[in-house]
Amino acid sequence: MRVIDLRRDTITLPTETMKKFAFQVVLGDSVYGEDPTQRELEEMAASLLGKERALFLPSGTMGNLVALLTHTRRGEEVIVEENAHIVTSETGGIGAIAGLNVKPLRGEDGAPEVEAIVQALRPENIHYPRTRLICLENTHYRYGGIVPPLEKFRAIKMFAEKRGLAVHLDGARLFNAAIYLKREAREICQYADSVMVSLSKGLGAPVGSLLAGSRDFIVEAERYRKMLGGGMRQTGWLCACGIMALSPENINRLQEDHYHAFLLAQGLTHFQGIHVDLSRVHTNFVLANLEGSGYTAWAFAEKLKEKGVLVTPAGKFVVRFITSKEVTREDILRTIEIIEEII
Ligand SMILES: *Cc1c(COP(=O)(O)O)cnc(C)c1O
Repeated sequence: MRVIDLRRDTITLPTETMKKFAFQVVLGDSVYGEDPTQRELEEMAASLLGKERALFLPSGTMGNLVALLTHTRRGEEVIVEENAHIVTSETGGIGAIAGLNVKPLRGEDGAPEVEAIVQALRPENIHYPRTRLICLENTHYRYGGIVPPLEKFRAIKMFAEKRGLAVHLDGARLFNAAIYLKREAREICQYADSVMVSLSKGLGAPVGSLLAGSRDFIVEAERYRKMLGGGMRQTGWLCACGIMALSPENINRLQEDHYHAFLLAQGLTHFQGIHVDLSRVHTNFVLANLEGSGYTAWAFAEKLKEKGVLVTPAGKFVVRFITSKEVTREDILRTIEIIEEII
């Protein structure tokens, strides 16, 4: 039985061409800046993201943490959407390692309201932590891969500049957002001082993320990466996969994942007891509410698993489906059939 894995886009495997290319590249000791393939990837990323420099890191979590450490000092405050990955899913590193105070703000469309940020800003007073940084996320993971309005990013950046705050963008799935918006990735990044993007999700590289920003920012970030143990040696094999991952064809391929997610979402709307808000299916995620179907999310996921479809319970009645290059159109149609059988 073919297993249809809709749990994550991190299940993606490197392609044969990626592997072949990887084993051909020239390697060096990257801690000393001597791995030419890493340097090539970093330059490519900096250009795509519209920043002066970029830095290769083993994971997105480390990329975000390095950004926090570089932008702030311990005891300062970070304004962040309350369900952002950086607070919900990075093991509390923002507090435990960066030593930051979190000011969580709710933003149903994936980003905090500008007015709420204005209100949250701390006045200068000996009792208060200093507000230093705003963290944005695009696409927003917990809200089902949605893309917050670009106009809001622009307004937040304008406000941040006026008040001397830095903006970091957790863009683990930034290219999915760019495709949804029909914009270049760098157009989104212009509203942030630093940005982290993942190579190992929909883009299909086995390992790695990039952090981009100004030259000075990256010089400091490189020190923190080393401090956290992220200085690696012959990274060229991984970075070669990253170079292929960032090719225009591979980035455009993400569109397919979006079509598949929307196809699935549309299919789900036909079942009684399952609710999908199609207006919030922006990229490669579908959140389905099962209340009324007689299933809890957990029971539904178990039932699907018996039939060879893997999904993630993301709340008592909410199931999350994520498409990736490992999932075909036929898999989506088969998934809809299987759901029809069990509903
Ligand atoms: C996956 C993810 C990260 C972290 O990336 P890892 O490589 O898994 O550490 C950060 N932010 C968002 C929104 C993510 O989805």
